[in-house]
Amino acid sequence: MAQTTGRELLDVSATIKTDYNKEEKNTHIEDIIRDFDMQDYIDKKIKEYSGGMKQKLALSCAIIHKPQILFLDELPEFNRSVLEVMRQPLEDRRITISRAKFTVEYPASFMMVSAMNPCPCGYYNHPERNCVCAPGAVQKYLNKISGPLLDRIDIHIEIVPVPFEKISDRTPAEHSTEISKRVIEARKIQEERFKDVEGVYCNAQMTSKLLNKFALPDKTGLQLMKTAMERLNLSARAYDRILKVSRTIADLDNCEKVQPNHLAEAINYRNLDREKWASQ
Ligand SMILES: [Zn+2]
Repeated sequence: MAQTTGRELLDVSATIKTDYNKEEKNTHIEDIIRDFDMQDYIDKKIKEYSGGMKQKLALSCAIIHKPQILFLDELPEFNRSVLEVMRQPLEDRRITISRAKFTVEYPASFMMVSAMNPCPCGYYNHPERNCVCAPGAVQKYLNKISGPLLDRIDIHIEIVPVPFEKISDRTPAEHSTEISKRVIEARKIQEERFKDVEGVYCNAQMTSKLLNKFALPDKTGLQLMKTAMERLNLSARAYDRILKVSRTIADLDNCEKVQPNHLAEAINYRNLDREKWASQ
């Protein structure tokens, strides 16, 4: 995963809106610094700042320094109301926590990664084994993840079992160091692209206006999108997500314009949008 840039770090601000007095506020900040075990990191980062700015930065650093991937395994096993809470930070990259005495807004710019089985028994769509789930059980299982939450996830991919010949195949695959170089290059392109846009550092953060500017497909691409939207019954939000992902695929390809093949690849990464999924 790409590192947080200096610009990104400075932009993050966490505000404590509270009726705490100054001393209580400081205690609150100190608690966070202690909980996050952040003192050394903060000392290094905020040498050149002072006073209120120092406090603000301390809080921001404490949060942004944490690993920015949130991995939820067995996604449908989470309580649905817990999953629904994820919608705000996934959309706004901020989270608001309200308590009787105070409201705190924290930056929450993370990448959510999750995994799930295709059905409770785990064999739905398996090429060789039969799913033994009761009728309707697959749909019920998948329904635990709401459409609006699914819409906010850029990429959904079905992983099919790997056949023995592939497992035993010892042909060297591309090394992750090489892949990492491509990712860093693609991030540099994005950094340059958004250098004059406040609060935006990568394709995932593009607004509709920015999408029109940087990821608008050509005529063939638009036709492809129209067909996909109709056939797969995609939402407007899914449309935006596809454009963002295709912009990134084009960047990895070092391509200035989003081409139809980039769009086709991004459309393929939305397995769970397909209505047929649990009704085959
Ligand atoms: Zn099953």
